[in-house]
Amino acid sequence: MKNQLLDLSLHELEKEFSNREFGESYRMEQVFHWIFSQHQSTFQGMTNLPASFRKLLDQNYALRSLKIIKKEESKLDHTIKFTFQTFDSKNFIAVLLPHKNYYTLCISTQVGCAFKCQFCASGLVPYDRNLSSGEILDQIFLIEDSRNISLKNILFMGMGEPLANYSNVLKTIQWLKSPQGFKIHPSHITLSTTGVVPQIKKLAKERLNVNLALSLHSADEKIRKKIMPVSSKFSIPEVLNACKIYQLENNSDLTIEYILLNKVNDQLKDAKTLVSVLNSTHFKGKPKINLIPYNSVANLPFKPSSQENIENFYQFLKNKGFIVHTRKPQGQDIGAACGQLE
Ligand code: SF4
Repeated sequence: MKNQLLDLSLHELEKEFSNREFGESYRMEQVFHWIFSQHQSTFQGMTNLPASFRKLLDQNYALRSLKIIKKEESKLDHTIKFTFQTFDSKNFIAVLLPHKNYYTLCISTQVGCAFKCQFCASGLVPYDRNLSSGEILDQIFLIEDSRNISLKNILFMGMGEPLANYSNVLKTIQWLKSPQGFKIHPSHITLSTTGVVPQIKKLAKERLNVNLALSLHSADEKIRKKIMPVSSKFSIPEVLNACKIYQLENNSDLTIEYILLNKVNDQLKDAKTLVSVLNSTHFKGKPKINLIPYNSVANLPFKPSSQENIENFYQFLKNKGFIVHTRKPQGQDIGAACGQLE
């Protein structure tokens, strides 16, 4: 199996091209134009490159390695769930979320997940391997081609903990933002993490300015440990402090994600603990809070909160001065909603 070209960062490719005497640097620009603007999926199709250069590229690199093996569209809201297969026959999912005038794509970064959050279907899929940056970007190329759309909003919220696949996710973000790549504004890219403290701090220093979403889900250590057994190896103050550092280093939004589980973390006392913990972190700006009504998953013991509890939780946070949003489930009928991907 040849390396995928986009498994390398722009910097690595520049080095590679100069080492291999691939020609003038403008040749590289031509290659990127073919890949990102023309969506050319073969080197042979890059017709303004010399035949010898195309052959050389072809001998050394591949451009696509995934294939879409299934597409399911929600009858409720037209969310589309794409099942991908890798070159080594691993399957995983990405979800295309339609809005009025644009789409958001929720991409995966790993096959399976080792973090085992108890409310999440992906946590039931044993961790298999990281996706390479080429494979993560392939999700975008293939979905854009399949729908004839241009994506400008990307969420790292599919299967896997993105920061457990740090170097590939970093390269992916660089390609997403790059003028030679997808040219997506960082304010339209959101990376979601369950709170891998060293990597949040490391990412902060990269100053990529992408939005950070922290899957906190409880501000009580005991409850968090029960529902997020792996992530809770870092204490809540440690995690929030890392997010504070990220916020200080980056010009971007910080969002606290909070899934509401009936009688687990959805009572007023839980909302009070959340406010107290967030206020005591003294963030640069108050983080936004996303409340996520739980989407049921077979074989998991949780139930969605009542409408009344969701409303009370929301109002309490709002009255404390937070910008709160209750997420509307999308793609529930096809198992594509938040926490349902497996
Ligand atoms: S919420 Fe994220 S980190 Fe937790 S099990 Fe699901 S995919 Fe993994």
